[in-house]
Amino acid sequence: MKKINTDVLIIGSGPVGLFSVFELGQLGIRSCVVDSLNEIGGQCSALYPEKPIYDIPAYPVIKAQELVEKLHKQIQPFKPSIILNQRVEKIFEIKDIFRVLTSNETEIFAKCIFIAAGSGAFGPNKPPIKDIENYEQKSVFYNIKDKSLFKDKLIAIAGGGDSAVDWAIELSKIAKKIYFIHRRSKLRAAPKNVEKLYDLCKQNLELIIPYQLDNIRGKNGLIETLTVKDLDNNKKEIKVDYFLPFFGLSNDLGPIKDWEIQLEKNILKVDQATCLTSRKRIYAIGDVCTYPGKLKLILTGFSEAATASHDCFKMVRPDEALHFEYSTTKGINKV
Ligand code: FAD
Repeated sequence: MKKINTDVLIIGSGPVGLFSVFELGQLGIRSCVVDSLNEIGGQCSALYPEKPIYDIPAYPVIKAQELVEKLHKQIQPFKPSIILNQRVEKIFEIKDIFRVLTSNETEIFAKCIFIAAGSGAFGPNKPPIKDIENYEQKSVFYNIKDKSLFKDKLIAIAGGGDSAVDWAIELSKIAKKIYFIHRRSKLRAAPKNVEKLYDLCKQNLELIIPYQLDNIRGKNGLIETLTVKDLDNNKKEIKVDYFLPFFGLSNDLGPIKDWEIQLEKNILKVDQATCLTSRKRIYAIGDVCTYPGKLKLILTGFSEAATASHDCFKMVRPDEALHFEYSTTKGINKV
């Protein structure tokens, strides 16, 4: 079993977990980040790496993956220890130290824990189609890394929310044709974008609404046809090169629910002034936490990372006084 000793264990390498390394590092606090995915970046990298974000202060526009790369660069001075492909499973408290076990038998000892777990160790909600796993990552994708793959192709997109609608609009610019499938007549996405989607029917987009997915056929992981059926069970076969189901994320906190921390609607309740959960020395920041007025935004998570880092100082360095300093005065803290 691999053993790691650190000051703060950060669960989750989404934008908020990554920025915590910086905030803690500036206060001279060591940290270790663990993520169940095989790459850093949380939702930004896993769900929408190519999408432009417009509400990161000082960046009029930045692609989600680029933001993750910049955060990764920003934390390099602190020589971050980042463990990927491992889910944090169990925590034990021994006096004032947490002993934490991951799914891959790493044992981490930490004085405090920052839970920056977003919606949990997430995965996409998959459509209930037999054998779909044979096509995954070949011709069926739940997120898009490189949109050039879809140039001049026939694409089926399923879902009724923002991701499905946004990607249909985006990919219609390069695809040969988009088939947009949804089981209800009404879409849940932003009304402005739904309007844009309907407009695209004059060009290269066909709405297949209200239809349900029925089955998938193809060879060696390459899809050939997708069958859909209407509410009267009338079936229709669509010839496609790629199928992109966007049914959201499973919102399961997994093992975190067993850590005796107070939850509110499956999210961790924190004190806004400190970001402390109901359990001593465990903080929750980013999408995983809630308090009155909480906004699930990256910039809100960054601020929570700073709040939690300053608050945990007294627990990590009980014999030292914390003097608040601007980064312009302090520069980058030496490790
Ligand atoms: P996440 O990014 O969710 O990362 C959490 C990480 O924790 C994941 O990698 C997960 O694998 C890991 N994890 C969870 N549990 C465990 C465990 N037990 N062990 C190990 N690892 C674990 N926000 C904006 O501010 N502006 C936007 O324009 C914007 N656009 C968006 C567009 C889309 C399509 C989506 C889906 C979201 C958008 N958001 C936007 C929201 C933004 O992405 C989230 O607010 C942000 O990612 C939250 O960051 P986080 O670090 O808290 O969590």
